[in-house]
Amino acid sequence: MLEDKNQERTSLAELGEFGLINHLTKHFKIHHSSTVKGIGDDAAVVNTEGNELLVTTDLLVEGIHFDLSYMPLKHLGYKAVMVNLSDVYAMNGQANQITVSLAVSNRFPLEALEELYAGIQLACNTYNVDLIGGDTTSSTKGMLISVTALGTAKKEDIVYRNGAKPTDLIVVSGDLGGAYLGLQVLEREKQVFQVNPQNQPDLDKYTYIIERQLKPEARKDIPELLKELEVKPTAMIDISDGLSSEIMHICTQSKVGCKLYEEKLPLDPQVISTCEEFDLDSTMIALSGGEDYELLFTVSLSDYDKIKGNPNLTVIGHIAEENEGMNLVTRANQEMALKAQGWNSFKGKE
Ligand code: ADP
Ligand code: MG
Repeated sequence: MLEDKNQERTSLAELGEFGLINHLTKHFKIHHSSTVKGIGDDAAVVNTEGNELLVTTDLLVEGIHFDLSYMPLKHLGYKAVMVNLSDVYAMNGQANQITVSLAVSNRFPLEALEELYAGIQLACNTYNVDLIGGDTTSSTKGMLISVTALGTAKKEDIVYRNGAKPTDLIVVSGDLGGAYLGLQVLEREKQVFQVNPQNQPDLDKYTYIIERQLKPEARKDIPELLKELEVKPTAMIDISDGLSSEIMHICTQSKVGCKLYEEKLPLDPQVISTCEEFDLDSTMIALSGGEDYELLFTVSLSDYDKIKGNPNLTVIGHIAEENEGMNLVTRANQEMALKAQGWNSFKGKE
């Protein structure tokens, strides 16, 4: 895919490290007055304006977290930023700056890194964050990309995982399971392609779920919406590993139990139809498929009127006493204990 788009291949060695960093970062704009010093000194300088500083980092490794045979580099750059911003929003904070560290083998020409940085830049502009530094080195094999995000929040606005109380409502943004199913479609097409490279895949009916996998959007809008609605969640987390394991983090840290209702889980029609096609249970996918980057949070029952009917939010259950356990109430009204199946372990089971 890369070779098709970029006929030219400029070797990284031609530029040298400083030439490369300068080439990749020179078109990035600074959006925040809190970015006192960005790229170019020994350390960036950030003013927190009296707020708490939020710091989060993720490392993505080729062959473990992404597969460049169907992940265009521009999307990879975008997604690497999204997974970090999502963690800042999950603290009910505002993301302001990122750093990007790269290790690349000599298999990658300059044009490949330009694509990666085009995705990073699109993410920075769309989400209003500044690229303020990073590190660049070579690897013997493959690509590693690590992004760190910095954010701020007022002390009293920060939402931790440990504040959920019995009777609180459990709320999720958007819909679930799409990113995992998008990955299943891409993996299948990759295998078809390996057998018959002439085969042109028809992916029209999967556009939404493929986009959920290749171009996830962090929910910057949700902390803003909650502020507008004057709702402060009692606990919050982002969904990177799957609903089941995330609600279990909230429950364990809050020392409470929960009831989720199968019939309430928000599913896109494409998720339902693709589950049928792959003979997968859509509830299982919503619970255990990962990488949706939606926000999962709990709110006091007294806030129900403020959130009900909002098209971005779905109430999927409520918090219970710790001794009641963590359960899913099925459509047949049976209770099943939730299992912590992150999507990686889930994948391993197939
Ligand atoms: P140092 O030797 O102090 O580690 P570097 O030579 O690695 O500094 O980096 C020079 C400047 O470029 C620093 O501001 C650093 O943060 C920034 N930088 C290095 N690599 C990247 C990258 N991949 N993306 C963005 N900024 C980078
Ligand atoms: Mg360095």
